[in-house]
Amino acid sequence: MPPFEPLTRSDALDAWREFLPKVPLYASTRNAVQPGHSNVSRLGACIRFRTLLEDEVIRDTLERHAFGAAEKWLQEICWRRYWKGWLEARPAIWTRWRQRVRTLRMELPAERLARADAVAAGASGVACMDSMARELMETGYLHNHARMWWASFWIHVEQLPWELGADFFFRHLLDADPASNTLSWRWVAGLHTPGKSYLVRLSNIEKYASHYLAGDATGSERLADGSVVTTVPEDIDPVAVQPLRQAPASFTPSSKSFGIWLHPDDLVPEVGPLAGLSPTSIAACFSERIYRETFQLSSRRIAGLKVVLRDALERASAHFGCATLELEADDPADALCSWAVENKLSEVVALAPMVGPVHDMLARLERLLEAAGIRLTLLRRPSDATAFSFVTAGFFPFWEKMRRHLNEVYI
Ligand SMILES: Cc1cc2nc3c(=O)[nH]c(=O)nc-3n(C[C@H](O)[C@H](O)[C@H](O)COP(=O)(O)OP(=O)(O)OC[C@H]3O[C@@H](n4cnc5c(N)ncnc54)[C@H](O)[C@@H]3O)c2cc1C
Repeated sequence: MPPFEPLTRSDALDAWREFLPKVPLYASTRNAVQPGHSNVSRLGACIRFRTLLEDEVIRDTLERHAFGAAEKWLQEICWRRYWKGWLEARPAIWTRWRQRVRTLRMELPAERLARADAVAAGASGVACMDSMARELMETGYLHNHARMWWASFWIHVEQLPWELGADFFFRHLLDADPASNTLSWRWVAGLHTPGKSYLVRLSNIEKYASHYLAGDATGSERLADGSVVTTVPEDIDPVAVQPLRQAPASFTPSSKSFGIWLHPDDLVPEVGPLAGLSPTSIAACFSERIYRETFQLSSRRIAGLKVVLRDALERASAHFGCATLELEADDPADALCSWAVENKLSEVVALAPMVGPVHDMLARLERLLEAAGIRLTLLRRPSDATAFSFVTAGFFPFWEKMRRHLNEVYI
């Protein structure tokens, strides 16, 4: 089955052009979960891997529509940046989540683990939830509302650890994002906004997604309104806020021999701070072993990652007119360092990876490059830096600042 969502930049741009006229309808239609999902954009994977930039989406939206008519859409586009900024300042949430997934898999009583596996396999006995689990595994996509219902079912009805549910989503969603996924699961659990958790209600599914219930309502009494109560799990520890890593917005090479490192946190090098550079070589590294063994990603997810990386390398080759290299290695940091040494690079430049799998190997890459006398410069897009500086509390104070900012820049 082909990927459900557009992945390459050209697919992303086509899908976005098709969706753009529908933006004013988004606020009133987006909550309905319809087969085919034509009322939402399905641009999640392109935005997550940045084969389409939020900046492009915002610019096109405001060129075509009035701010008021597009506000709900713009808010949702900016939710991801809010989550990104939140996690950048609290990287321990990501590392602890990964550790907890490993520990729970070893320490959870066998009967709870078996139940978790059954629910994730679409065999919980609640037909509508099982249908959502199968849809996720078969297509790599779930509508936002279905993600909320299913996560709430997992946490508050099945009383399973949120970390394992988030891991199931991370392994299958084509748009799986370390920030949006982990933090949305924490929000459903009640760990993001104290005193607030998201409780699934049958009447809500009946109203917005009756097709999940049609023909088979088995087990849906477990979701009856008022019967689901919060089970806020104990958070391990409050997470300390860290100052954001300083990252310049532009790069002036100190010699002619520098390379660009491309990675799946930002795959449009031809737009933004890297665009005007003349690198000697460009490399992207893919570690199938890490994705398969450490993260246990589905085959569809791994195939999707390969598609977005290859697409970015092809575009980079055309734009920069230099050699591009796709590295496949068990140790990406080591492979990237060897590439830099073999190409006699004195510097490597990249858009700064954000907290998540690529970021996890950054410290090692920096050490290896430094030992080889090669400087690594990580840039941040100015619009990310601005958005992250607005992330001080909840989403709505963030949105107030973002709304003012967008009005100043685009209107
Ligand atoms: C439990 C749970 C897990 C989630 N995991 C992810 C994830 O791994 N990756 C991910 O990108 N989103 C995640 N989301 C947020 C949201 O569900 C998806 O972004 C959205 O459903 C993607 O589909 P779409 O592109 O058709 O959305 P549309 O409704 O068309 O939205 C357009 C874009 O806006 C952004 N967006 C919309 N809603 C949200 C939101 N609530 N939070 C953050 N960004 C949003 C996304 O980039 C999305 O592509 C999760 C939500 C929940 C409740």
